[in-house]
Amino acid sequence: MDSAKLIWMDGELVAFDDAKVHVLSNALHYGTGVFEGIRAYETPDGTAIFRLREHMERLHRSCRAYGIPLEHTVDELIEVSRQIITVNDLESGYIRPLVYYELGAIGLNPAAARVRTMVAAWRWGTYLGDEGVAKGIRVRVSSWRRIHQSSFIPVAKGTGQYLNSVLAKQEALATGYDEALLLNMEGNVSEGSGENLFLIRDGVVLTPPVSSGILDGITRASVMELLVSEGVEVREAGLTRGDLYNADELFFTGTAAEVTPIREVDDRSIGSGEPGPITRRAQELFSQAVTGKLSEYRGWLTFV
Ligand code: PMP
Repeated sequence: MDSAKLIWMDGELVAFDDAKVHVLSNALHYGTGVFEGIRAYETPDGTAIFRLREHMERLHRSCRAYGIPLEHTVDELIEVSRQIITVNDLESGYIRPLVYYELGAIGLNPAAARVRTMVAAWRWGTYLGDEGVAKGIRVRVSSWRRIHQSSFIPVAKGTGQYLNSVLAKQEALATGYDEALLLNMEGNVSEGSGENLFLIRDGVVLTPPVSSGILDGITRASVMELLVSEGVEVREAGLTRGDLYNADELFFTGTAAEVTPIREVDDRSIGSGEPGPITRRAQELFSQAVTGKLSEYRGWLTFV
């Protein structure tokens, strides 16, 4: 990653090299933290952060889900995000807020540990590669299953639960693929290691419902709304592994991945083997929305 100049830690701007935590921080041992990932884009009217309020609201929901008392309001965190882009002289970039239990308790009741909040930002290009965005990526169905709601809270971005995504991502890369796709415990399609999935069949856009154990992605919601506005039929639907192989088009969405076409699953070519027309349209609409080129969606942008 690119280094940043300054990182916001509990109300103070700290130099990159000084933004440290203690080795006995509770979150480091037990994954007792929650986080967000947000992007800022260059627009003709200056830098704008995409759906910042929705991301900070989800951060609050993640804290509530895991019982972490977060002292900073959504409005405060919005201001901090604007500030962290400005002080790091970023025209565009990635913003990473993290709320975590630090010192005060080692053990499985973190309540006595201090809750700390940090917001960092840095320059970040495409997550799955420029070529992936242009031509599509190669995906494998993971041997790991997506965390289940009987053990975790899939709609929360808890740091500890990402070990599941790490296992899937490592396996995909080690076996020669770009990204993993995880089935849930019922054997239905859930999502990528850090992306939501869309499938196109006979001109209809399908995406697994939140009840399939996915994170309710903000990019997912945005792309659904953009496609519906174009008159495309978009539905939430349970999907099987077989549905993947027979899809006309597949793509991933996520803050990091944006809209990334999938050209192969388990060595089977998807559709024509090239990004299809609805995928291309979703990429185009998303890119226009985040860069302020769609006036109806200006409300999604927080200008820095
Ligand atoms: N699923 C998982 C597991 C993720 O980590 C992410 C990235 N936050 C997503 C989906 C996509 O969500 P969003 O569009 O809100 O970034």
